[in-house]
Amino acid sequence: MQRFHALSVYNRRRYGKRVQKIPLDADFSCPNRDGTISRRGCIFCNPLGSGSGFSDRGMDLGEQWNFWHDLHTKRHRLAAFTAYLQSYSNTYGPIEKLACILDRLDGLPGLHSLSLGTRPDCLDDKKLDLLAEQRKALGLSDIFLELGLQSSNDETLKHINRGHDSAAFARAVEAAASRGLNVVAHVIAGLPSPRGRETLEDLLSTVDFINDLPVDGIKFHNLYVCRGTPLARLHENGEYTPLTQEEYLSHLSEALMRLKPTTVIHRLNGNPDQRRTHRPGLGREHARPAQRGARLPQKVRRMAGKKERRGNRHTGLVRRRGLAVKRPNPRPGASSPPVKPRGMFRAGPSVYQLYFSSIFRNSL
Ligand code: SF4
Repeated sequence: MQRFHALSVYNRRRYGKRVQKIPLDADFSCPNRDGTISRRGCIFCNPLGSGSGFSDRGMDLGEQWNFWHDLHTKRHRLAAFTAYLQSYSNTYGPIEKLACILDRLDGLPGLHSLSLGTRPDCLDDKKLDLLAEQRKALGLSDIFLELGLQSSNDETLKHINRGHDSAAFARAVEAAASRGLNVVAHVIAGLPSPRGRETLEDLLSTVDFINDLPVDGIKFHNLYVCRGTPLARLHENGEYTPLTQEEYLSHLSEALMRLKPTTVIHRLNGNPDQRRTHRPGLGREHARPAQRGARLPQKVRRMAGKKERRGNRHTGLVRRRGLAVKRPNPRPGASSPPVKPRGMFRAGPSVYQLYFSSIFRNSL
């Protein structure tokens, strides 16, 4: 049973089916990169953007859509999809560009909803009106407007060269929500700040700030260090250290407990491309437990059950479903060889259990 309001649960309750996101690269830019606000970008911003990079390979929106659509329909038999305009700021630039992109979405097979990632200062009344109109025109069930806040602390926003303040975010949220758009806030835990690194209290203040606004959903991210960013230089010089996995999970679980119960959780962690992180492995240690978060309670229970039945008294290792287990030497008196814990789950308290035990104190 889900203990928090995950996006998958929202989709099943509202539409009675699974809805798969398809990332689309619409070749937008960002005012914090093209010199309008600055050329440095946010301190952590991956210079390549966070999208699929398909646009750079010359694929138009239709080709990108067909690639993912065919994959998901054949492999997973899915029929409903969200077009996810992810990379950079997808409402930046003239309104005609946004209108043109929205036109190109018309008629895509299986299009169910639209999700746009953008900055709060890249929206005005005309663009919001256009989005609200296109929801009806394209027959979309939802338009999710994903707005980067990252932190409600203006000192932190300045320190990370965000280029807007929290008041700009609040104004954009109010304006979007009044038009029936579904607002999703992006928040990052452990940002560098003038005082060193943001604390749990800073994260909880950000959650309180979001709770007071008509925000429908939230994406939590751990901060990972991408190559070629100002953050990578800080990290190199020992001036910034990301949260450890345990710290991130502890912050996340407290934030989830503080969040309004109706807020839909779209994401529990960032999942960096390891080829782009400053140091291989940086960020991955955060990704695994939280990424599997929504499914873990059942898994943990299942594993606990298997431990009863299949626990190996020599090794303390438990077999995962479908993976081979190495048996102890059956000869009487023979010593058991050490078994490499590859593909197996080591019994005992894990960060998953600690994480979920703290989350589920306040189950929704
Ligand atoms: S607003 Fe987004 S795309 Fe622009 S610099 Fe910041 S992280 Fe990068």
